[in-house]
Amino acid sequence: GFSRRGVRGNFIPPIRSNGNNAGNVTSRIAGKGEDAIDDSTKRCLELLCGPDGELPEKLRNLEPRLIEHVSNEIMDRDPNVRWDDIAGLEHAKKCVTEMVIWPLLRPDIFKGCRSPGRGLLLFGPPGTGKTMIGKAIAGEAKATFFYISASSLTSKWIGEGEKLVRALFGVASCRQPAVIFVDEIDSLLSQRKSEGEHESSRRLKTQFLIEMEGFDTGNEQILLIGATNRPQELDEAARRRLTKRLYIPLPTSEARAWIIKNLLEKDGLFNLSDEDTDTICKITEGYSGSDMQNLVKDASMGPLREALKQGIEITKLKKEDMRAVNLQDFEKALQEVRPSVSLNELGTYEKWNQQFGSLS
Ligand code: ADP
Repeated sequence: GFSRRGVRGNFIPPIRSNGNNAGNVTSRIAGKGEDAIDDSTKRCLELLCGPDGELPEKLRNLEPRLIEHVSNEIMDRDPNVRWDDIAGLEHAKKCVTEMVIWPLLRPDIFKGCRSPGRGLLLFGPPGTGKTMIGKAIAGEAKATFFYISASSLTSKWIGEGEKLVRALFGVASCRQPAVIFVDEIDSLLSQRKSEGEHESSRRLKTQFLIEMEGFDTGNEQILLIGATNRPQELDEAARRRLTKRLYIPLPTSEARAWIIKNLLEKDGLFNLSDEDTDTICKITEGYSGSDMQNLVKDASMGPLREALKQGIEITKLKKEDMRAVNLQDFEKALQEVRPSVSLNELGTYEKWNQQFGSLS
């Protein structure tokens, strides 16, 4: 049975020299019988064990199912986004490279005066590439990527958020270098002290700040990235810990052109003239990156619909039966897909950027 085997499957004698355990990490940390842990949890814990077959100190008092959730749902082994996938945002890419990627790649150089901040805030309208940047950082710095939406901590994990946060930072510290991306961080670190604020959400916030403090002072190779569409909701304590604050604005006209071309080319559907592309870019002023993606999706249905209208059956349709996407497809799609960000929202971001953003 499992009790005679270490988590790595090596035989472990029933009595150890220190005499207080039989090497069965899983049952010990759970504080219950090993039957309570199923195979998938066991496998997940095995992967976190050190060369000695023991679970690292930080994870020992955590519930296995939370560790498993972090490992399976929050940790992303292959974020699969590269800098080159992200349109525009040159300023943000440059700042992030210096501030985050270099230090993660060369911790030996980035210490003392050069020691990096451990908290980065990406703020701006929704759908502009904040999550993409987080994933790209992890990819470029060869770091493990953890993604969590702060609102899920308060909605899905009611009453357990604190424990999950501990598990998250615990697993991250075993998987260094690590990037922890917290989406909608405002919902976790907001300054609103409404009467609705529960004791539990206050504790969650405290726990979160404690964890951040912990790796800020230590030698850990962990970076926290918070993303928000509502930077004005963050309080002073949150701003203090997120030392670098980068505005991620709507894509410029060039960036929009790039997104169109890039997405269509991937599928071999690009055949727009420069004039057509210009026209589309002019009409899409104010569209976010994700609006542009939706627009391209919708436009790319044009050739398909047309082919079907000519009587070809969908099951018999060949790729060659479809023409490339044209300007008319985009004009139709523009009536379906509207911009999701309003102009006066932009003013709020600009103002906050002037006051608190890293402008350099
Ligand atoms: P958010 O800023 O809300 O985190 P995301 O990074 O999740 O936005 O972007 C959502 C989607 O929109 C991406 O998966 C991508 O397809 C598209 N997108 C947004 N911004 C860009 C960009 N700058 N370059 C390329 N694609 C983008």
